[in-house]
Amino acid sequence: MDLLNTLVDKGLRREPPTRDEALAVLATSDDDVLDVVAAAGRVRRHWFGRRVKLNYLVNLKSGLCPEDCSYCSQRLGSTAGILKYTWLKPEQASQAAAAGLAGGAKRVCLVASGRGPTDRDVARVSDTIKAIKEQNEGVEVCACLGLLSDGQAERLRDAGADAYNHNLNTSEGTYEQITTTHTYADRVDTVRKAHGAGLSACSGLIAGMGESDADLVDVVFALRELDPDSVPVNFLIPFEGTPLAKEWNLTPQRCLRILAMVRFVCPDAEVRIAGGREVHLRTLQPLALHLANSLFLGDYLTSEGQAGKADLEMIADAGFEVEGTGEVTLPPHRVTAGGCGTSPAATSSAGCASSSSTESVSGPGVPAAGEGASDGASAGPGCGPCGGHGGTTGQDAPAVPATRTAPPAADEAGSTGAPKARTDLVAVRRRGAGTDVAPNA
Ligand code: SF4
Repeated sequence: MDLLNTLVDKGLRREPPTRDEALAVLATSDDDVLDVVAAAGRVRRHWFGRRVKLNYLVNLKSGLCPEDCSYCSQRLGSTAGILKYTWLKPEQASQAAAAGLAGGAKRVCLVASGRGPTDRDVARVSDTIKAIKEQNEGVEVCACLGLLSDGQAERLRDAGADAYNHNLNTSEGTYEQITTTHTYADRVDTVRKAHGAGLSACSGLIAGMGESDADLVDVVFALRELDPDSVPVNFLIPFEGTPLAKEWNLTPQRCLRILAMVRFVCPDAEVRIAGGREVHLRTLQPLALHLANSLFLGDYLTSEGQAGKADLEMIADAGFEVEGTGEVTLPPHRVTAGGCGTSPAATSSAGCASSSSTESVSGPGVPAAGEGASDGASAGPGCGPCGGHGGTTGQDAPAVPATRTAPPAADEAGSTGAPKARTDLVAVRRRGAGTDVAPNA
């Protein structure tokens, strides 16, 4: 297919597809899905070899959020039966993180519900970061605390945070249909603050909320502009008790097309399969490893994931390998001196947003197609199942939660050809952080 050959060539040059080309990937038929995976897989292997980075979520504070993000089980007015608890103590968080690290994760993602942290919260999380780093040499820590005020990103960086996650989630044009208590611009501002403080920016999306192909392309191109190092791709987990509970819009093949599109648009960024992979990709999860080079190990913030052991077996069976703490995640040209995943050899930064159709992709430090990447130091959740946060306290919480006017939802039996609702695959997390039950990492 000419389209795919063109996109592979562009991906190897870090050149973005056109908007029409990105839309065309999403419009390919199920008959072509293996061709799409094979093509995007070439780009993935060129920049990341067969390595899979594992990330581990620790929900520091669960539920009770004043924000109204429609997709979120922790939102204002949610009746989902999730765990609700306030801040874990640093030693509790460190203990939770240790389970994921023992399971093979190299990054810990510290997430807290809420619009954004107070300065006291930042101090609390700083203590947690220090506790984790003291006990786990080489670990990367990403914070995901919502909208940041001036100076907070710098404080987190100084405490040892490597990265900050804040997802755009959906397109600017549809953002207010998903959330009313903060804006798309608020989110962009926080990603920029993280970037500006020298943190490795992590920002992604949620697919399956009733958006159009154009919305998906819009948000992914917007992410490319922001140039995050990591792009978590969430597939909506339609929690009962949230406004999007009936939004069963995804098939496994559609998820693969979305991941392929993200890979073509952000060829050299860490593309992470985030929340919802078990629910929507189901038995096709191994194919997604040919597109994404990163995933979350074990459970999510409020829902259960596949057991960590099953994740590791899947990775090995599919012919991939878990990335070690001694390996740098990002290609050398993306690694900034002093930043997350710093490689001694790296001296420049040309991010996802950088493009150069004339640039050579071969040379020192650039992995050859099909090979593993460079050696060096360590590098860097889409704290994705949450999807992101919004900024202050609950003072301005809305009287009326956001609602979304969505396309027709899938019917339970799938008799209209729409994807089947798989509520049987959605399980509220009852183990790990905030409980006395061991996690599944
Ligand atoms: S996504 Fe974050 S800010 Fe939005 S409702 Fe959930 S916890 Fe609150």
